[in-house]
Amino acid sequence: MSNTFKAILISRDEDKKQSVDVVEMSDDDLMEGDVTVAIEATTVNYKDGLAITGKSPIIQRWPMVPGIDLAGTVITSNHNDYDAGDKVILNGWGLSQTHYGAYAARARVNGDWLVPMPEGLSARDTMAIGTAGYTAMLCVMALERHGIVPERGPVLVTGAAGGVGSVAISLLSKLGYDVIASTGRVAEEKFLKNLGAAEIIDRNELSEPGRPMGRERWAGAVDAVGSHTLANVLAQTKYGGAVAACGLAQGIDLPATVIPFILRGVSLLGIDSVHAPKSLRVEAWARLAKDLDLDKLASLTTDIGFDDIIDTACDIIDGKIRGRVVVDMVGDG
Ligand code: NDP
Repeated sequence: MSNTFKAILISRDEDKKQSVDVVEMSDDDLMEGDVTVAIEATTVNYKDGLAITGKSPIIQRWPMVPGIDLAGTVITSNHNDYDAGDKVILNGWGLSQTHYGAYAARARVNGDWLVPMPEGLSARDTMAIGTAGYTAMLCVMALERHGIVPERGPVLVTGAAGGVGSVAISLLSKLGYDVIASTGRVAEEKFLKNLGAAEIIDRNELSEPGRPMGRERWAGAVDAVGSHTLANVLAQTKYGGAVAACGLAQGIDLPATVIPFILRGVSLLGIDSVHAPKSLRVEAWARLAKDLDLDKLASLTTDIGFDDIIDTACDIIDGKIRGRVVVDMVGDG
C-alpha cells in the first residue's frame, strides 16, 4: 500500500473564498480516531454538492476533505467492536463538516460512527444506497411507525428522480404501497414507473404558493423538497396521514398554515440521518438489505471514478443527476 494517496481538499482564503483541489495526503495528515478505514467506494449526495460548490455552509472546520458516505475495510482498529479486515460503512456524523470525509483513499474515524456492512450488500451496493437511500429508509420507517400502511392509500414521493426519491419509490413499491411520484423531469416517467411509481405528477402542481387545505390525495408522503412543495403536500394529505420531511431542494422555508394539523390531524415527521443513533442506523440498513430490490438499485445507479467527483457534485446541485452515483475508489489512491 502506497504511503501517500489522493484526496479532495476544500480550503478557503482570508476573504473566505473557497477553493477545491486534489492533493496528496499521508496517514499522518488524517484526523484523530480509533479506526482507520481503506475506502473502497463512496458516492455524491446533494450535501456533497453543497460542500464542494460552497452553496451552503456545510464545512465548519477548514481545510476539509468532503464526502459524507464511505464503505471499506478496516486497516487498523483500537475500537472494541472492530478488527482489521472488517467491512464497514459510515454515513454522516461529522464527516465533511468537522471531520475529514470520504474523498480520500483512507479515513481515520471514531469507531462509534461505523456500522458493520450489512449482510448481502457489497461496498458498491451500500454506496449506491448512500445517505440518500438510508434517509429514504428512515422516512419509510417513520411512516410505518405512524401506521401508514398500504391500505391507508397512496404515498407521494417528491424530488422523485433524485437520490432520496428514487430509492424511496423502489422501497415503497416493493412494500406494496401505491406510489405517486412528483418530478420536474416528466421525461423520466418510464424510469420512475420502472422503479415502481404508479402515477407521475409534475412538480409544478406543488411548487407554487397554494391554499391552506386542498383535496385529500395521499395518506403519506416522503418529501425531499421543502418550501411551498412541503406546504402543499401537507395541505393535500388525507385525514390522519403523515409526511416525512427530510430535504430542502426547493428551499428551507415552510410557508404553511396549521390547518392540516388541526383540522385533519396530519403529522409532520422530521427525519435526520446525520446524528441518527446507531440502533436506528443498524435497523435501517438491515431493512435496506431486505426490502430494496437490487435490480432496481442497479437501474438507478451510475458509476464514476475519483476524478469525476467534483463535476458530479456541481451537476447534482444543478438537478442534472438522476438517481444515485457510486464512486469506485479502488485503484484511485
Ligand atoms: P438529489 O439532488 O439527488 O435530488 C433532489 C431532487 O429534488 C431533484 O432531483 C429534483 O427532483 C428535486 N428538486 C431539485 N430542485 C428543486 C426545486 N427547486 N423545486 C422542486 N424540486 C426540486 O438530492 P438527494 O435526493 O440526495 O437529497 C434530496 C434532499 O434531501 C436534499 O435537500 C438533501 O439535502 C436532503 N437530505 C437530507 C437528509 C437528512 O438527513 N435529513 C439526508 C439526505 C438528503 P426531480 O428532478 O424529480 O424534480
